[in-house]
Amino acid sequence: MSWKTDFEHAMNEAPFQKVKWWDGWERTWHGMSKWRGPKGRPVALMLHHTAGASTTSKDPDHNGNKCSADNGQANFVWRHPSYSSPASQFLIRRCGQLDIFAYLPCYHAGSGNFTSKPWTQFNIPKDSFNSYGMGVEIVSKGQKDDLTAAQWNTLGELYAALGNICHWEKWDEGWVRKHTPRHKDWTSRKIDIQASRDKTETKIKEQIQLWDGKVPDFAALAKAHHDTSLKSAAAHRMAQRLHDLGYYKTDVLPRYDQGFPLKAWENYLRDRTPGMFEPGGPGNIYGHKSHDSVWLLPKGTTNPDGSVNEQDHHEQ
Ligand SMILES: [Zn+2]
Repeated sequence: MSWKTDFEHAMNEAPFQKVKWWDGWERTWHGMSKWRGPKGRPVALMLHHTAGASTTSKDPDHNGNKCSADNGQANFVWRHPSYSSPASQFLIRRCGQLDIFAYLPCYHAGSGNFTSKPWTQFNIPKDSFNSYGMGVEIVSKGQKDDLTAAQWNTLGELYAALGNICHWEKWDEGWVRKHTPRHKDWTSRKIDIQASRDKTETKIKEQIQLWDGKVPDFAALAKAHHDTSLKSAAAHRMAQRLHDLGYYKTDVLPRYDQGFPLKAWENYLRDRTPGMFEPGGPGNIYGHKSHDSVWLLPKGTTNPDGSVNEQDHHEQ
């Protein structure tokens, strides 16, 4: 599929709390109509802070952490006044909302290089990061490491969604670090972001790493759903995924001890009002690459919502 189709699909189906697509996101900026990474995809997501915010508080109830408090920051990044173009592809508000401004290259990295740094393997020519990687502006005053839990969550989900469609090697050691250079890793002119490399990697991994990336055997899972005492590897993976998403609060048990995480699953469904297979719906829990083959089961099997399939659903 095309980059644009993949991008739209991935963003719509990732479990973000809230997303806003801004006017003009489909446009080409400054004539840069293609990514120069392998297969025409970005190689990384550069982390920036806005150096402006309403608060440094991490308290989600603080007025400065309401989504609307960051409207001004979002407006600025949408159209940087010096270039009349987006100043990054994304912005993450302090409330966790993701704002999307572009899917093609734009100006955000400026001059710099990865000479003698862990990112040399991308072979990005000096001053050319913009053609190779996306950027995310995270709303923060930038004087200290003050990102909210909601921002780290969204960053983790954004990272996972992009990694999937950009073919970043997923569960390798160092995977996160490799694909999330901070702006200051590119140039000593900059101080963003304030969080250390170790912390950044840990926080992103907290969001994405527990699930092993394998889609459960859903025939087994559908069975487990109706018999919660049944232990199965599928239930184990489901529990891991729900844990990653914040719905399963206790420790996930080893694969042969884990029953179906019924309560967490119900809570997850409660937050997902769209239909089963619509973007954002529960059928998308494992992401767009899997949901068609995962949730459409053969004739006579029971779907996780309790309905029985009256005909075969062929995998795609
Ligand atoms: Zn920056």
